[in-house]
Amino acid sequence: MSLIALAVPFFLFALLVEFLVDRMRGTGYYRSNDAINSLSAGILSESTGYFTKFLQYTIWGLVLSKLALFDIERSWFDASVGGVLLWILAAVLWDFCYYWNHRLGHEISILWAAHAVHHQSEDYNLSTALRQTSTSFLFSWIFYVPLFLIGFPADVLITVAAVNLIYQFWVHTQQIRRLGVLDRIFVTPSNHRVHHAQNERYIDKNYGGIFVLWDRLFGTFIEESDDEPVIFGVRKPLGNWNPFWANFQVYDYLLFDATRTRRWRDKIGIWFRRTGWRPADVAAEYPKQAVDLTRFRKYDPDISTARRRYVLAQFMVVIATALFIANAFATQGAGVVLVPCLLLWTNLYTLGLLNEDRPYAARFELIRLFVVLPLGMYALDPDLITIIPAGAAVIAIYILVSALWLAKK
Ligand SMILES: [Zn+2]
Ligand SMILES: [Zn+2]
Repeated sequence: MSLIALAVPFFLFALLVEFLVDRMRGTGYYRSNDAINSLSAGILSESTGYFTKFLQYTIWGLVLSKLALFDIERSWFDASVGGVLLWILAAVLWDFCYYWNHRLGHEISILWAAHAVHHQSEDYNLSTALRQTSTSFLFSWIFYVPLFLIGFPADVLITVAAVNLIYQFWVHTQQIRRLGVLDRIFVTPSNHRVHHAQNERYIDKNYGGIFVLWDRLFGTFIEESDDEPVIFGVRKPLGNWNPFWANFQVYDYLLFDATRTRRWRDKIGIWFRRTGWRPADVAAEYPKQAVDLTRFRKYDPDISTARRRYVLAQFMVVIATALFIANAFATQGAGVVLVPCLLLWTNLYTLGLLNEDRPYAARFELIRLFVVLPLGMYALDPDLITIIPAGAAVIAIYILVSALWLAKK
């Protein structure tokens, strides 16, 4: 099992603690709809990854086995000075590559289209950390190819990659304010809050993963200022709770301009230009409104307490399903998790609709409960016994209780 999978229970526990601290202090940093949307994006990222991540592993493996410059024969259990130095070097170089992956992830349109998902949350808490994209498999891996080309052992690189990602979890909080000198060396809550800002002065700053030293070296560092509180989110707000659309939003903007511009150079070039660049003809024909943050309001449709509780309870089922699928993937591979993933994704979609308070949301949820779920479970195993003890009875009770609860307005 991967380090990241092992860290999941810790993530969930820390999230619960931060939520309780938020309630005790009355800081209001958590809204259930935003947190559910962030976690939904995280679950979608993880579950689509079962079918997409093989791409990067295959290419990295090929580079390492066919093109590596050095044959470094060190591994996990090497505690010699050379072994420890290798681990440190790998961790630092991975962080360096991460800096450029992240920086270009903001600065180049097609890379921003993938990374923007992480920034759409208009709150900032530990759930934001888990808000991850589902399309980084397309290009992100490219930035780490040099390390495989050097010949660092795969298990060392995969481990430092996981440590790098896990490290970044704790910095997504507003409960920790400043940490003095640490804010100028490491990525910390204060300097990463700045990274999630849409305020003009903070934009495109603090890209580091573990070390913020890279930002200071390459001129992208800025400190959080008490004079200007961070406004979290992106300048073209998502404006819905659909985790699928969250992943397509920026591709859609780019596609809109690419299909309307007349010059072929621009149709192709737009994807690789600086983020925000638009062809002159479409910019003139379809002008964008200037951003005015003084009028910024968080997206926050109001729904009834009964509905909110329903969505929360169903989201617990989503988390349990996602953990069940993660375990099945780890032990049996991607083939067996396709149908469970389809069921999981349907659930993420309908919960988004319910949180958006769409008039047709309850109907979609009923279709999920009475049509999609039974069909999916039947496709998995007609007896259901191998999936859930007591099989069909448990599913039937779940469907009926859900439907009755949903009827409460
Ligand atoms: Zn970013
Ligand atoms: Zn972040």
